[in-house]
Amino acid sequence: MANTKHVFAFEDGDGKNKHLLGGKGANLCEMTQIGLNVPPGFVISTAACLDYLAATKLPTGLMDDVQAQMRALEQKTGKGFGDSDNPLLVSVRSGSAMSMPGMMDTILNLGLNAETLQGVICATGDARFGYDAYRRFIQLFGKVALGVPDAAFDKEFDAIKEAAHAKQDVDLSANDLKEVSERFLAVVQNVTGHPFPSDPYQQLEIAIKAVFNSWGGKRAVDYRRQFHITPDMANGTAVNVVTMVFGNRGDDSATGVAFTRNPATGENKLYGEYLVNAQGEDVVAGIRTPKPLDRLKVEMPEMADQLDALRDKLESHYHEVQDFEFTIERGQLYCLQTRNGKMNTVAMVRTSVEMEREGLITKEQALLRIAPDSLEQMLFPRLDPTIKAEAVAQGLPASPGAASGIAVFDADRAEQYGREQGRKVILVREETKPEDIHGFFASEGILTSRGGKTSHAAVVARGMGKPCVAGAEGISVDVNRREARVGLTSFKEGDVITLDGTSGKVYLGAIPTVEPDFTPELNVLLGWADERARLKVMANADTPDDARRARSYGAVGIGLARTERMFNDVERLPIVIEMIVADTPEQRQAALDKLLPLQRRDFRELFEVMSPNPVTIRLLDPPIHEFLPDEHVLERELSELRALAQNARGVTVLAGAMGLLHASESVRHDIDIARRMIDPAVVEDAIGKKEAMLKKVRALYETNPMLGHRGVRLGITFPEIYQMQVRAILEAAAECAKAGIQVKPQIKVPQVCTAEELRKVKTFVDDIHAEVAERYGKPVSFKFGTMIEVVRACMRAESLAEEAEFFSFGTNDLTQATFSFSREDAENKFLPLYNQSGILQDNPFDVLDVKGVGKLMQLAVEWGRSVKPDLHVGICGEHGGHPASIEFCHKANLDYVSCSGPRVPVARLAAAHAALKAGNK
Ligand code: PEP
Ligand code: MG
Repeated sequence: MANTKHVFAFEDGDGKNKHLLGGKGANLCEMTQIGLNVPPGFVISTAACLDYLAATKLPTGLMDDVQAQMRALEQKTGKGFGDSDNPLLVSVRSGSAMSMPGMMDTILNLGLNAETLQGVICATGDARFGYDAYRRFIQLFGKVALGVPDAAFDKEFDAIKEAAHAKQDVDLSANDLKEVSERFLAVVQNVTGHPFPSDPYQQLEIAIKAVFNSWGGKRAVDYRRQFHITPDMANGTAVNVVTMVFGNRGDDSATGVAFTRNPATGENKLYGEYLVNAQGEDVVAGIRTPKPLDRLKVEMPEMADQLDALRDKLESHYHEVQDFEFTIERGQLYCLQTRNGKMNTVAMVRTSVEMEREGLITKEQALLRIAPDSLEQMLFPRLDPTIKAEAVAQGLPASPGAASGIAVFDADRAEQYGREQGRKVILVREETKPEDIHGFFASEGILTSRGGKTSHAAVVARGMGKPCVAGAEGISVDVNRREARVGLTSFKEGDVITLDGTSGKVYLGAIPTVEPDFTPELNVLLGWADERARLKVMANADTPDDARRARSYGAVGIGLARTERMFNDVERLPIVIEMIVADTPEQRQAALDKLLPLQRRDFRELFEVMSPNPVTIRLLDPPIHEFLPDEHVLERELSELRALAQNARGVTVLAGAMGLLHASESVRHDIDIARRMIDPAVVEDAIGKKEAMLKKVRALYETNPMLGHRGVRLGITFPEIYQMQVRAILEAAAECAKAGIQVKPQIKVPQVCTAEELRKVKTFVDDIHAEVAERYGKPVSFKFGTMIEVVRACMRAESLAEEAEFFSFGTNDLTQATFSFSREDAENKFLPLYNQSGILQDNPFDVLDVKGVGKLMQLAVEWGRSVKPDLHVGICGEHGGHPASIEFCHKANLDYVSCSGPRVPVARLAAAHAALKAGNK
């Protein structure tokens, strides 16, 4: 559109409009406007980026506006763009509405050419500084704007370093760097076929286009896909043009990155690193290992005080932990950018609680700033402290947690081994770059031999909640030989290593890990969450251990105990099989009589662990043939047995034919042994049993078992099974009650589609209840309810509500039933394509399909409560632990969600978010 304003000086841009100015640009405007010392500059909007990408040319008049802004910068700084006496240099940075660290490209020192370089050298009196800036510019511009690979520059640079016997970049002289720049110019000429552009405005225009183009680059696209960044969250990148300030102007200059609080622990203390006489990229790229900010107090005490003041100003303005970059140029402190700090969850939780106590944020803000899903990170394992192991290397504890896996030395291979082959992988690099991102996704942990706690590896690993040890300088990584040397020892690709990102230690071999504890702050935070949530959070737990863990995470009951999991035990399976293959009701009852005490013990343990909270036990659900051996295995075994029988008969026949049965004692003895070893009678007996089993398996075979003889259908055709379970539940409850343990048993019937099914089950439940009450001398109260997991159950909610005291949505089955997708087939075959092509936004087995499945749930709730207003309703499918689905459950007026143990904290926070968001609207 003509006359749209695309270019905004930092003094004018709306600091709240991240969509238009990008996060970084909006912040630079805001920082300028609240009086922080920000180098002058301006922002080109994301709208200009979108226009450019659509039209493949810059919007009309854009460069005129840019020129006007450059003139304003010249005025503010007293320097001239392209001026050979006192040249103005700028950085050109990307920045979209969502922070995408390391995903987009930045160009520094733009405006340098042969003439302005001399101006810089004259103005600073520092030729080394000038050439250093120049060579950096040529490489960055060459790479980002002209597509010259880093390797081409690195080769030349390393050659000069070697010739100069320089260990580090700072050891290179002005002359060395001059030669570096000359060689770099030649590299650009050779690779692109054109000379390096020397006109500063031409450089600026190319750079702006390159930043715009990087929005559509592979790295950025992959990142957005991985983190589900949709166009309404961020669309296009802004370009920030900022006056250069130099941290590499000598020993009174420095550059650094800092967090207002420690991003690994949340400790309320300025945290970060700096390098004297260096540029920002040196810190981020991890080329030199920086010093911790504590040292600044010794080296530049006045600057350290100013930095503390800056920290306070940032937090009191943003009410959020800030991750900021600063530069000290000849004793002058500049703040170059700030953004909300990406922290691991431990730190997020601690800062939430502490900032609330400091009065910086409210309890609601403290809750809402934490993504519920991230809480699972706090349940990550740590190294078993009872295991004594000698670390082989010590690096920086860059992202907490512990992991073991095979060492892999590049990102592609990490992806191949980790993602494709499902192996546990530790990515080992000298330092990482944004293009390694796919290797991060596939790895359990990341180890680098260079770089600090704010290096790329550290920042990205923390964001992903993966353990990272950075800057383990004792390790020398040889990518070509796929080997790392550590002192006198070494490890190769494929060798197992262990990282402890909390201590920074690296070990050879695998070290076991243990479950972590809740931090006191997490308990405080979840306490606040419970006060605000309306939905209660229960757990899906089948064993006492699961139940204990879920309870320690704050579950207020068991919403689903799947009894079939209790049958799948080496000790019990033979009895279960006996029950299934029984030919008469008496035989079946005999097997059930053996199972009864076992089940009673199971239920009693669950009741004890959860007392006095409710425990919802679901009667047997899956088709019983699932407990029987596989038909093909049986067939093979049978044919082996038949062959054996032939042999057994053969020995007997042979012995008879040879008259050996009347032979000498010792020969007869040998024949006897041979016959006993394969006793025909024993073999025949085994064949008979196998044949019977095979017959049973064939009889129970179903073309579509998930839609077949399972759930309540089984309970109706084999009532003895459900009766045994109901008796076990009620007897266990009666035993507990007798022992003074408060219990709230709930009996839940699966796969119900008609009220008549429920009535049938309820009849024998009532009979057994009366019988147990009489035997134990006192009735135990219990609730009787139904799973709602078939479509007809939703449609018949009114009549089901007449029989049931509670509804429990089994959204795993309900999703299958609503879509008519079988989960296993869908996820392996067409769902990925459906998601990629946008036919379905999400995998409905992960994210509740609110429009379809959710609609059925709403109807069932409404109709069920129309008959029974106090009908208790919850969800126990996988979706019960997912924040977006929990938000829907809140809106749909459910009473509780039930999810697996480790999701309980997630669900508690998500339930609070749901209530707060609904309240805020
Ligand atoms: C469900 O269907 O959502 C459910 C909880 O049952 P299951 O996953 O055991 O079939
Ligand atoms: Mg189910």
